[in-house]
Amino acid sequence: MEHIDDTKLKIFQTQLLSSLEKLRNDVSDMLLSSSHVGHKLAAKQLQKLSNDQLVELTSKLDISSLAHKTNEIKSIDASLNDIELGLYGICSDCEAEIAIQRLETDVTAKRCVICEKKYQKQKYNQYKL
Ligand SMILES: [Zn+2]
Repeated sequence: MEHIDDTKLKIFQTQLLSSLEKLRNDVSDMLLSSSHVGHKLAAKQLQKLSNDQLVELTSKLDISSLAHKTNEIKSIDASLNDIELGLYGICSDCEAEIAIQRLETDVTAKRCVICEKKYQKQKYNQYKL
């Protein structure tokens, strides 16, 4: 299988960072449009926060419209950490390399296709219970 080389890794990293910047702005806009004073204050702090702090803040705010954004921020942050640790592109379940094409479609993919299928099936079964 084709390995992720440093050039490719840099491209993924750039993509992740720009998605994160966009999300940060989205969250900031949402907070600014809130009628809650605390949210407006949080928006001011937002640009100064590290990724970890951003995840922490958005998790704490508990605004339903933010939940989806928070999850996206979390998975982007996790992928960025993986890049730093040299674990990016490795399946979190079976430790096989994730196909580059798959990462190109979803830069935050954490599992190989096989494990992702199993995972989705499990999730689906949990909902049924
Ligand atoms: Zn796997």
